[in-house]
Amino acid sequence: MRLRNVPGSREAIAEHPLCILEENPQAGNWHTVFGNNHPIHIEVGMGKGQFITTLAQQNPEINYIGIEKYSSVLIRALEKTDALETLPENLRFVRMDAENICNMFAEHEVDRIYLNFSDPWPKDRHAKRRLTSTTYLGRYDKILKPEGHVEFKTDNKDLFQFSLEQVEPAGWHLDAFTWDLHHDETLNQGNVMTEYEQKFSSMGNPICKLIVSR
Ligand code: SAM
Repeated sequence: MRLRNVPGSREAIAEHPLCILEENPQAGNWHTVFGNNHPIHIEVGMGKGQFITTLAQQNPEINYIGIEKYSSVLIRALEKTDALETLPENLRFVRMDAENICNMFAEHEVDRIYLNFSDPWPKDRHAKRRLTSTTYLGRYDKILKPEGHVEFKTDNKDLFQFSLEQVEPAGWHLDAFTWDLHHDETLNQGNVMTEYEQKFSSMGNPICKLIVSR
């Protein structure tokens, strides 16, 4: 993603009631943040937030947390939620590098993790930075409930193949996968499109999806 600095975005995020910063970890405290014991679903690398904001509006009984590294991207998600009639009570945004995700959530605090159109990091030497690498699956293993799962979508076939190959060495189980989500009657049910998904599927790229659990 090409990033343009958005002046004032860091300050606006720091002051926004829906935002939490990496410096203020909420591990073990999320149910207090939301004021209820509803399940917690997170999206790592949420970008401009269309996916998680839509899910939060559709499912008020689930708490959603979008994680994004860059203020200049996160601010776009905030602009969208600010334009809504009321701020969704079940939605929060965290500005952080997901490398440190285990500081932000306690053991088994999260019920589901979404990864959508994650950065491919095409060079072999950067493979550990891919959000579906065994390194990241190890981090998710700590914060996810035993019965929880990870859902990943991408149009990048190399990244998808790499991700499929990470499942077994990480000690995870491949529950379902497709190389063409939008033509898969079962997996496409209730699918909520992300910004990148809309862009790439409109260009004719098939969308791949996998679901993994322990
Ligand atoms: N999920 C969105 C979608 O599908 O439209 C955005 C996809 S965009 C290609 C990937 C996003 O993940 C970018 O906004 C990027 O800044 C964010 N990202 C990449 N690595 C990250 C990390 N380690 N921690 C948090 N966010 C990250």
